[in-house]
Amino acid sequence: MIYLDNAATTKTAPEVVEAMLPYFTENYGNPSTIYSLGSTAKKAVNQARRTIAEAIGAKQEEIYFTAGGSEADNWALKATAEAYSQKGKHIITTKIEHHALLHTCEYLEKHGFEVTYLDVDGDGLVDLEVLKAAIRPDTILISIMYANNEIGTIEPIAEIGAIAKEKGILFHTDAVQAFGQIPLNVDELNVDMLSASAHKLNGPKGIGMLYIRTGVKIRSFVHGGSQERSRRAGTENVPGIVGFGAAVERAVRTMDEKIKKETELRDYLIGRIEKEIPYSRLNGHRTRRLPGNVNFAFQFIEGESMLIMLDMKGICGSSGSACTSGSLDPSHVLLAIGLKHEIAHGSLRLTLSEENTREEMDFVVEELKKIVTKLREMSPLYEDFMAKQGKGQ
Ligand SMILES: *Cc1c(COP(=O)(O)O)cnc(C)c1O
Repeated sequence: MIYLDNAATTKTAPEVVEAMLPYFTENYGNPSTIYSLGSTAKKAVNQARRTIAEAIGAKQEEIYFTAGGSEADNWALKATAEAYSQKGKHIITTKIEHHALLHTCEYLEKHGFEVTYLDVDGDGLVDLEVLKAAIRPDTILISIMYANNEIGTIEPIAEIGAIAKEKGILFHTDAVQAFGQIPLNVDELNVDMLSASAHKLNGPKGIGMLYIRTGVKIRSFVHGGSQERSRRAGTENVPGIVGFGAAVERAVRTMDEKIKKETELRDYLIGRIEKEIPYSRLNGHRTRRLPGNVNFAFQFIEGESMLIMLDMKGICGSSGSACTSGSLDPSHVLLAIGLKHEIAHGSLRLTLSEENTREEMDFVVEELKKIVTKLREMSPLYEDFMAKQGKGQ
């Protein structure tokens, strides 16, 4: 099997599983209890909190564990909207956010908030002038993702943070795709809130965090006990938190090498596809791009058929984001960068890890060439196009 869907989820690293195991077995205590079994668990939770805080230049009391990236996004938006609604009811985001964010915005719109969804350019970048023009006196929050999960484009987060700071508006970033993949620091970026998720960086599923800068007013997300400084009640997912900490520790340690390896493989794969498969187009920015992200639109092809045929060769990819596959709507991200419906449908996302090899990339290109040719031979659109081309000559 060749796994090229690391934006959907990653393999839990063996050292992460190793670190988690004792917290299922001998160290099963509840961190809120006072005997030593409980304090062992509490120490482990706080150790993970420190590791994660250090990785983004935050204080440990600014890290709040959640059940993943979606919960962190929900919390950041709903709870600040509520806490700042006296000041205003306007929120700014983009058209290319993850559904965890977009659907939360739709929910807020039903509850009296107004949301501006910024357009992006053909590469998926937010225009800073367009952002500035969208800011109003009643704008309370700007939420813009760090890096896009489909096309890999990295947004100008530090510049956006500077604008938000100057205008005194809260700034949240969904950094689920960026955290652990590329260096980031909350002070350099001027972000007030940041979402992350362990399973996108070789950690376990169902655990994530929201960074909340000291001083930001934010309502509790889960009411109950005093866990997470009374803002997110519920007995901690101790093994998950320990695994998250171990994954971050590993990501920080291996980041430089991982970036170098993935970027080389990515550019090799992009280069071969562009050269060897006609009527293909790279989606997303060529250089301001996550190290492991490759996303192509192939004209005259249906993405789902391509995925099924790749799967028969043992290759796992995605035709959009994993959340939208199964539905026939083309990806909102691909439409937002200006792709026509039929071209968006023929898109393929391949997201690499440091475990992939050049031989695997060669195999993928060879198989992809055969698949694209075969699917185009069956496509009436391609037949029409070729007939017209023939007449033109
Ligand atoms: C995966 C992802 C999420 C959701 O994270 P979960 O932990 O799966 O809930 C949110 N935003 C982005 C950009 C993602 O890639």
